[in-house]
Amino acid sequence: MKEAGIDLLLVSPSADLRYLTGYARGTSERPTLLALQPDREPAILVPELEAAGAGQIAGVRVVTYSETDNPYAVLASALGVSAGGVPDTEIRPTGGVQPSRIAISPQMWAEFLLRLQATFDAAFVSAAPLLGRLRAVKGPDELELLERAGRAVDAAVGQLVHTQFAGKTERQIADEINRLLQDQGMKVAEWGPIVASGPNAASPHHLTGDREIREGDTVILDFGCIHEGYQADITRTVHVGEPNDEFRRVYRVVQEAQQAGVEAAREGVPAQTVDRAARRVIDEAGYGEFFVHRTGHGLGLDVHEEPYIVEGNELPLQAGMVFSVEPGIYLPGKFGVRIEDIVALTEQGARRLNNASREIVVV
Ligand code: ZN
Ligand code: ZN
Repeated sequence: MKEAGIDLLLVSPSADLRYLTGYARGTSERPTLLALQPDREPAILVPELEAAGAGQIAGVRVVTYSETDNPYAVLASALGVSAGGVPDTEIRPTGGVQPSRIAISPQMWAEFLLRLQATFDAAFVSAAPLLGRLRAVKGPDELELLERAGRAVDAAVGQLVHTQFAGKTERQIADEINRLLQDQGMKVAEWGPIVASGPNAASPHHLTGDREIREGDTVILDFGCIHEGYQADITRTVHVGEPNDEFRRVYRVVQEAQQAGVEAAREGVPAQTVDRAARRVIDEAGYGEFFVHRTGHGLGLDVHEEPYIVEGNELPLQAGMVFSVEPGIYLPGKFGVRIEDIVALTEQGARRLNNASREIVVV
């Protein structure tokens, strides 16, 4: 914070708050704000009725407000600073450091930010660079949870390939995936599963629907789960019945691109290097224009976080970073192929946290 010239960091309920404090609570209209200042005791502002839960956070002073208080005035008062937008009578500034640059956690509701801006006479900046880089490098305990989540989605893929696809709808396959994950004690991720069949597979973030899967379809299966807050994310592409030559050719290219991306991941190289390595394989095979998304994203308490594996991201990769390598080729009106694994970077290179077969599977 000192290096970034930030004198107050405010974090609302999100993976950021959970990462910093272990406090996992959803957002409501009553603001919860962790307030961090360099060299000062951390504080958390919570509604009075949630004080007990917040009291479990070690080393953080709990500041509460009642249903009729102005929470932002209470925060200013607790920090011992004056607040421009609040009548003087409500604030007793004592001994605080008046913030001139306030960093806001990226998932904070706009409503809270607007109220904070009306309260504090300061510059407001995003805490994304600060928090993103902290969270990008995982510790051993985090890696263990990510590995466990990864094994669960691998096991689901292993069982899924024995399922009859033809005649079922995308939604039925999605329900089956969720059941396989829940049977392993995993929480199902809200964003998925993506089950994209036939021409729908040409849409990378297809919204799983009621299309009936037929013989001759390609089916992209992209799903995750959550284990003690930590995410998994995997994609496999299966074929219903024997695939034709075009599918096989495209599949091979994606498979090679994925391998090239994983091999390019080394400590010290910029994140974009991994994207370039995967993209080069697809470009050289003549499918460059059909690879329409970045190669990957970091993953941890959020399913998308730093390091983003994309052209332009010069963030140097570090051991402990965990991210996806998920190139794809999408042929409009025809089909698509994507293969995604999560990898953890070590001093020896990338280690896959997903090990389900990456060969063509006929279902
Ligand atoms: Zn995915
Ligand atoms: Zn992904």
